[in-house]
Formats: sequence, C-alpha cells, structure tokens
Amino acid sequence: MSDQSSTGSLHGTPVVPGVAYGPALVVRGEVSPEAIARFDGAALDEDAALTAYDEAADAVATGFTRRADKASGAAAEVLTASAGLSRDKGLRSAVRKHLRSGEDLLTSVHAAVEQFTAVFTQMGGLMAERVTDLRDIERRVVAHLVGEPEPGVQMPEDPVVLLAADLAPSDTATLDPRVVLALVTERGGPTSHTAIIARQLAIPCVVGAPGVTDIATGTPLLVDGTTGSIETAPDPDQARRQVEADREQRAALATWSGPGETADGTRIKILANVADGESARGAADGPVEGVGLFRTELCFLNRTEEPSAEEQAQIYGEVLAPFKGRYVVVRTLDAGSDKPVAFATHEGEENPALGVRGLRLSFDNPDLLVRQLDGIAAAAEATGTETWVMAPMVATVAEAAEFGEAVRSRGLKPGVMVEVPSAALLAHRMLEVVDFLSIGTNDLTQYTMAADRMATDLAHLTDAWQPAVLQLIAITAEAGKQAGKPVGVCGEAAADPLLACVLVGMGITSLSMASAAVRPVGARLAAASMDHLEDAAEAALAAKDPMAARAAVRAVLDA
Ligand code: PEP
Ligand code: MG
Repeated sequence: MSDQSSTGSLHGTPVVPGVAYGPALVVRGEVSPEAIARFDGAALDEDAALTAYDEAADAVATGFTRRADKASGAAAEVLTASAGLSRDKGLRSAVRKHLRSGEDLLTSVHAAVEQFTAVFTQMGGLMAERVTDLRDIERRVVAHLVGEPEPGVQMPEDPVVLLAADLAPSDTATLDPRVVLALVTERGGPTSHTAIIARQLAIPCVVGAPGVTDIATGTPLLVDGTTGSIETAPDPDQARRQVEADREQRAALATWSGPGETADGTRIKILANVADGESARGAADGPVEGVGLFRTELCFLNRTEEPSAEEQAQIYGEVLAPFKGRYVVVRTLDAGSDKPVAFATHEGEENPALGVRGLRLSFDNPDLLVRQLDGIAAAAEATGTETWVMAPMVATVAEAAEFGEAVRSRGLKPGVMVEVPSAALLAHRMLEVVDFLSIGTNDLTQYTMAADRMATDLAHLTDAWQPAVLQLIAITAEAGKQAGKPVGVCGEAAADPLLACVLVGMGITSLSMASAAVRPVGARLAAASMDHLEDAAEAALAAKDPMAARAAVRAVLDA
C-alpha cells in the first residue's frame, strides 16, 4: 500500500454502514520510537527534569481545556477530566519520587503512570475506566518532552477519512461527524469503544483493517461501512456516484417511523438499549416499542456503597416512567469483568471474564439480588410500566429456574440472557423455566470464539457473523419458536441492519439497540418479506466465514 497513486483495496470488519469518499488523514497513535531514542533524558538533573515534566503536563492540560471549551455535554466532561488528571499533584509527586531515585525522565513518567494505573484498576468502577485516559496523557506528555506534535486527532477544517491504529476516548469524544466522513482503524472489534461511538454518531466505520495506517495522508479513499472495503485512489466520478446513491438510501431510512415489521407484515419488536433515566427519556421519543436492555450496572459504576432497595426503586423508576404503556426489560446487575462495580465485583480474579460476574455474584451474596429485585418490583408498581426482568451470564437451567421463581414471586415476567454457549445449547430447557430469552451477542461471541471482546487485535474473531455464533443464535431462536415464547437479541448484532435481517429470518422476535440504529434497522427489515429473510438466514448459516456470510446475505436481499 505504499504506492499511493495506484488503485488498491484493503479490508476490515464493517461496523457502521454508509459509503464515504474523501482524503485520508492518518492519526498517529504513538510517539515515534526514533524521537524517543534521540531524547537524552540523562542530560537533565532532577530539578531540570521536573521542570520539563511540569511544562509538558501543563501544555497537555491546556490542550485538553481548549478542546473542552469548544465541546459540550459528555465530550466536554471527558476532556475537562483529562485536563485535571494531567495536572494531578499525586502523579507529579510520583514522577518526582522516581527522578529522586535516579531514574531518567521518560522512565520516571512511565513508572508513575504505571503506579497510578495499578491503583485505578484496583479501585474499580469509573476509576478503572480512567486507565485509558492515563495512558493517553502519558503519550501526550512524552510527545512534548521529545519535541513531537501530540499524537491523537487534530480535527481538520475540511472533511477527511480518519485512519488510526486505534482511538483513545479523548479522541472519540470530539469527533465531529460533519468533518469525519468515515472512520477506519487497524485494531478494535465490533464492540470496541471506537465502533460504539461511530455508531452513536452514525459515522461509517470499519475496524480491524490491517495496513490502513501505511496509507499516506491525503490519499483519496472510498470507504464502504457495509462491506468493509477501503479503496485507495478510486475513479472519482464513480466514487461520487456511490456516495450519492448511499446518501439517498440513508435519507430514505431516516424517515422510518415504526412499528417494526417485515414487508409482508410480520411484526418484529424494535427496542432501545438504555443506561439511565436520561437515555431512557431520549429513547422514548423514538419509534421503539419499549426497552429491550436496561443495563442497571451502568447506574452504579461510580458508587462505592450499594444503594438501598428504596434508592434503587427511585433510580429504576426514572427509566420505567417514560415507557408507561410500552414495556421495559430490566437486566439485573452485570457487574464484574469489563463492567467493574466497586460494591459488587470480586477483586483479584485470575480471569474475570470467566469468573464471578453477572448472576454469579448472587451465589455467595443472595441479598444483593433480593434487594435489586425488590427495588425493580417497587419501581414497576410505582410507575405502572410493564416490567420484564432478566439475569446476565446464566450458564445452567438450575440458575434460570431459581431466578425465574424469584422474579415471578414479585409479579414480574422472568427471562434470562443467552451469553454463554451452554445457555444457547440448552435454550429449549431454559424456556421451560422462564418466559423469554434475550441473546447478548457481545458476550456470546466472546465465549464461543474464546476471544476477549476488549482485545483490539481479534476483530476477525469477535464478530457475531462467525458461523459458530450464528449457529448458536439459530438454535436459540428455534427453541423460542417451538416453545411459542419470545427470543430477542440485545447485543450489538441487533444494530447491524444486515445481520438484523438474518436474525429475524432465524425467528428472533425482538431487536434491541442504541437509538441511532433504530431507523436503519427498522427500514431494512421493512424492505424484505419474511421468505426473503429466511433465505438470508439460511445463506448466512451456510457461509464459511463472516465475509462470505455478509456477501451471501447481501446477494439474497438484493436479488
Ligand atoms: C451482550 O453481551 O451482548 C450484552 C448485551 O451485554 P453487555 O454488552 O452489557 O455485556
Ligand atoms: Mg453481556
């Protein structure tokens, strides 16, 4: 890919549909090793080194503050917090301590950041999430020290296709969809931070595309977020025509107003994923029939003490109230692993993703679940909203049965998530003891493929289009059909319009997703008959790999 003038093409995992054409802007993620090697830290005595650190940290903080002033909402909060952390006195003391013990400046900065990283990780919750911010600050401080421009996104004036190895939260916080035509990363999977933000902003996005950072800035690129292709130096007229056709198609999608149904009238419930009262109120304005996943643990990431059942009732009520007349599926606490909650998560596990997370937290602390179910039941009663309750990380039928009884005894409708392959394989037996299933494709993919969903180098494996994952979804959907009970999907797979067609073709009865995906998914389903969707499901199941599955499904649906 070094010859930028010639046409060529690269491939990645498509995560947000849309076609874009524009010049490449390569975002450097790291400080160049050559600049680091040239830097002679040993030449500075302790005082001079500390002064150099102060100046670099101050410059980094000032940069964050300047960007925060131009941003608003959550983005401004992220950047202001990073500015504060850059000037943190504790971090400075740690740098000084290492300098005093004779280490050179870059080693001292790295050691201080490592020390803070360990402390933040141990604290869990929101503090653990700030580890990425710390590492971002380190690379920016080091850039200043060695005399390079700060790595990361410098937002240009004119539209570009952004190419990066991966993006830090402080980079994605200020992405402007008017300037960023498309986003392509070498690493990251469909559930990575970059993919989630791109989906929220509706920026066409391809992840896991090796080689894209070798493309020279300025090279014209045609990116297709539906197929995952990145074409260098395409024919300009043809590229513009493709973009125009895509724009017309997307404009048509934006007018979809529900309810979810296929072209021949089979109803599919289109639902929203929410995290708190604010996101629920936003989602309630959209064309959704309810909430298919309320991630309760996200309300508690910054809490060190467990809230009482009364306080929980009030928090859950904020989500239930806007959906009176519709329904809400509340998921009980999915603490642990990638979602640490200080009052619940078990510390020091060797392998937290396979450890005590989700429903398993109630095994030796049953009152945690009792209090939460009491809180949910009280909120349901106070708001009058139809409330379903499901447990995450269920692996056995006995777990499902016990949970089902506890939920039913409070007058609520019980279900379980299918995130562990054992639950998919035993879906028919799960449905003997609960009233519905909801497939969490993010974790189901992680556990089926034995590939960490947070890993940035395994995008080809952490892909719900993998044949083995599709088989497990099909088994679960079939069990629902046999039992005459609802089986939904609430993982990121439901937000992929093409995959949504496959899921419905398998017999999935509801799809729950981020609000931004609701219209594209609803419109895609409305364009196909149930026969077509069943053919699409069959084609996907017969394909040998994710790319072949996508191509086969497109061929069936476009026929
Ligand atoms: C999933 O695993 O697909 C899911 C919906 O749960 P979460 O992403 O919150 O783990
Ligand atoms: Mg999950």
